[in-house]
Amino acid sequence: MQFIDLHAQQARIKDSIDSRIQDVLKHGKYIMGPEIGELEKQLAEYVGVKHALSCASGTDALLLALMAYNVGAGDAIITSPFTFIATAEVISLLGATPVFVDIDRKTYNLDPGKLEAVVEKTNNSNLDLKGIIGVDIFGLSADYDSINEIAKKHGLFVIEDAAQSFGGEYKGRKACSLADITCTSFFPAKPLGCYGDGGMCFTDDDELMDIMKSVRVHGKGNHKYDNVRIGINGRLDTLQAAILLEKFRIFPEEIDLRQKVTDVYNELFASKGNGIVSTPFIPEGYFSAWAQYSIEAKDEAHRTALLAKLKDAGIPTTIYYPKPLHIQDAFSSLGYKAGDFPISDTVAKRIFSIPMHPYLTREQQENIVNVLAG
Ligand SMILES: *Cc1c(COP(=O)(O)O)cnc(C)c1O
Repeated sequence: MQFIDLHAQQARIKDSIDSRIQDVLKHGKYIMGPEIGELEKQLAEYVGVKHALSCASGTDALLLALMAYNVGAGDAIITSPFTFIATAEVISLLGATPVFVDIDRKTYNLDPGKLEAVVEKTNNSNLDLKGIIGVDIFGLSADYDSINEIAKKHGLFVIEDAAQSFGGEYKGRKACSLADITCTSFFPAKPLGCYGDGGMCFTDDDELMDIMKSVRVHGKGNHKYDNVRIGINGRLDTLQAAILLEKFRIFPEEIDLRQKVTDVYNELFASKGNGIVSTPFIPEGYFSAWAQYSIEAKDEAHRTALLAKLKDAGIPTTIYYPKPLHIQDAFSSLGYKAGDFPISDTVAKRIFSIPMHPYLTREQQENIVNVLAG
């Protein structure tokens, strides 16, 4: 059994991917070939925003977004401590300071109810608070209506880290359209993944789009050898865009299949699970992209026991994330300690993810739930 079965997906579309790759080998435009613009246009339309800008990874997408706002030393950016390192890493990379706000107990996303107090505290420090990065963990969007409202009141920008939520929905709007700039990732294991690294920024703002376009290619101005700002080499490869175009054709169907797999898990856990784990919570009006199906054990020892049972049965699992960012060594200079964000600390001890992909069979799912319940 696979945690994420990319082979099953490839078997469906191998011929068309091969032919797309051959097209690129024929035209030879490996950097910024026609597939790049084609992909950006299709994905912008899908999420319902004006501009899409492809780039080299989800991490670069976040970097481009922060650089578009000229974030640097002395600035503070608020985000969640319960996320992949990249979300806060890019803040530090630019010399700015990540400031954490604890998560909601049920959604695992930044808790807007705790946001305003941190905004005020940061405003009273010697840091210049510029913006907020909301994270859509496991495919479920953060509560952007609340986050955007607080941001607006305090003159802050909002970036959506939608690395896990491409394909999800929030109150009738697609994930990747919920903030000033949104960043997603095409890392192979994400809901829409390529065969290497890739990412994309989305925005409705013409000016931010122009800056990000420039930053993506070494801060270019009117032409390639006119450099108007410091930038990066952050382009997506044409070959990856070609692969993504074929994968995107079946993507909406795969999102439906992920929901079906989730429904089966929920049903099996309700009927056989005997409350052994707690299953994902999706608020009314939200639709997760189901990047992960993450469940909670009762405590750390219980999780260790459950993971051992699954391992013995040959069922792969992962813990996203065993160590929240505020207690990572990389952020020790920020001065946080264990216990500062008690919900993140608690969740990190109990959470684990079981296989989730569009091609999981009911039989496989029954096996997984039986092992957990046995
Ligand atoms: C995967 C991920 C990223 C980084 O994306 P890469 O393409 O691997 O650079 C950033 N944030 C979150 C929440 C992620 O899950």
